[in-house]
Amino acid sequence: MARKGSRDSLQALLEQVELINRLNTALSTSLKLEDIYSVILAALVARNGLGYSRAMIFRYDAAQKHFTGYRALGSLDDREAARMREEMQTEFEFISNAIKDLAPDPLDEDNVDYINTSLSHLQSSALWVTSVQKFGQNTPLNDLIASVTIDHPPGPGSRIRNCITEAVNAGMVMIFKKSPDAPKLPNPLYDILDSRFLVAPIRSKKQTLAAIIVDKKFEDKPITHTDRRYLEWFSNQAALVIENAEMLENLQAAYNDLKQMDHLKTNFLSIISHELRTPLTAILGFADLLINEKLGPVNQAQRELLDRIIKNSHHLTHVVNDLIEVTHIQAGETTHLVLEPVDPLNILMSIQPKLHLRRREKQVSIEPQITGSLPMILANAEALEKIFFHLLDNAIKFSPEGSVVKVAFSRHGDDLHISIIDQGIGIPQDRMQSIFELFYQVDDRLARTHEGLGLGLTLTKMLTSSTGGRLDVQSEAGKGSTFTIIYPVAAESCPRLRRQDQAAR
Ligand code: ADP
Repeated sequence: MARKGSRDSLQALLEQVELINRLNTALSTSLKLEDIYSVILAALVARNGLGYSRAMIFRYDAAQKHFTGYRALGSLDDREAARMREEMQTEFEFISNAIKDLAPDPLDEDNVDYINTSLSHLQSSALWVTSVQKFGQNTPLNDLIASVTIDHPPGPGSRIRNCITEAVNAGMVMIFKKSPDAPKLPNPLYDILDSRFLVAPIRSKKQTLAAIIVDKKFEDKPITHTDRRYLEWFSNQAALVIENAEMLENLQAAYNDLKQMDHLKTNFLSIISHELRTPLTAILGFADLLINEKLGPVNQAQRELLDRIIKNSHHLTHVVNDLIEVTHIQAGETTHLVLEPVDPLNILMSIQPKLHLRRREKQVSIEPQITGSLPMILANAEALEKIFFHLLDNAIKFSPEGSVVKVAFSRHGDDLHISIIDQGIGIPQDRMQSIFELFYQVDDRLARTHEGLGLGLTLTKMLTSSTGGRLDVQSEAGKGSTFTIIYPVAAESCPRLRRQDQAAR
């Protein structure tokens, strides 16, 4: 008889091991942490679970160094507690079945619906348990434990040993028996506990997550060492589930924060850029009036200052316009980037005046290199202007004084490759990807000596890919960089190319 009883309980235990293993995978990938705590409580209290009268969870706040009462299941009243355990029995059955069903063998696509049904089953059961905990009649247990805070480690003034700290420090589930010299817990919690109760620390590999307190106040059977062993195993499994769920929630929260920040950044950029553009237009307008002597004669010193105001305002206007362009493209607004046949050499020549000042300062010359006839490309003229400007501006900026920047045009099949080749400081391999990120500069210190915002390459990359082109970079630190833009040749829409084709025949 006794043997059959122990075989049955072994069988029950094995089933629970299997169940909890599945619980680990199922819960941590699909339920909220709050629901997981509900399921844990249901398993502790249900008659067909571990069968305790009351179960309470205290969560550990490592920053504040204390445990606080989080959730409880059970009651202060024996009839109510019995009713709750009966109800939990049905609910725990639902939960167990849903968990058992969650990983059918084999796990193929046909089973996806089945898994989803089981999941929603599990979720609604967990929700039910949560609502019982929250709104169960005559169950002030939750309110009662919510007011309990237990310092861990105990504050310097505290001379009373507390049960949670004892169990956490021992690193195992402990049975406590009420007696004058035994460790205590703060009231009203301590008073309502049975004369024997169990405290189970829930620890991950790295930290303490929570503590569970259970008793058998309204049960005939006393707490024994078998309870301690079962609970030890149960709390280890619970730790895994909770840790996984916490990790997932943290990841989810971090992801949401990042998305929110990205959205804020885009919004901020777009507002700030528009706000800057209006006063800049006014500054430029007034400076123009002054320098053209519309408001009276201007002497040489004033003229030079006005000249600087105008140049700097133009520079700022370019930066603001670039920022606006970036925010537009980021928001998917690219309708202004219409594709058309474009003569790249023409565009290259047209931006020379804009680069003049920087070139003059550094005595850098720009040399186009064209092999064969130069075809038109399918691109957007305004975008190409900006692309050339930023690539050349960087090439000059990061080149030594008196060096040459080559612009090599070469046809490869239906594509035209345009390479901007400098003999400058180059880019370290491990930074090659990052240079295209907004506001990124390889070396802050260096970038400060070379003015800039880390905006040009972001915009260049965005503009090439939004106008049917590609951007490649090859570089070696100390040896120079080659930025290549690749665009399809506009054969059909290019009269010059067609004429050349005809002449060749
Ligand atoms: P910036 O306004 O700083 O030039 P960019 O987005 O155009 O911003 O470039 C980002 C960073 O990439 C630069 O700060 C620089 O570190 C690096 N970089 C870009 N072009 C070159 C180049 N031709 N040679 C060396 N480094 C470059």
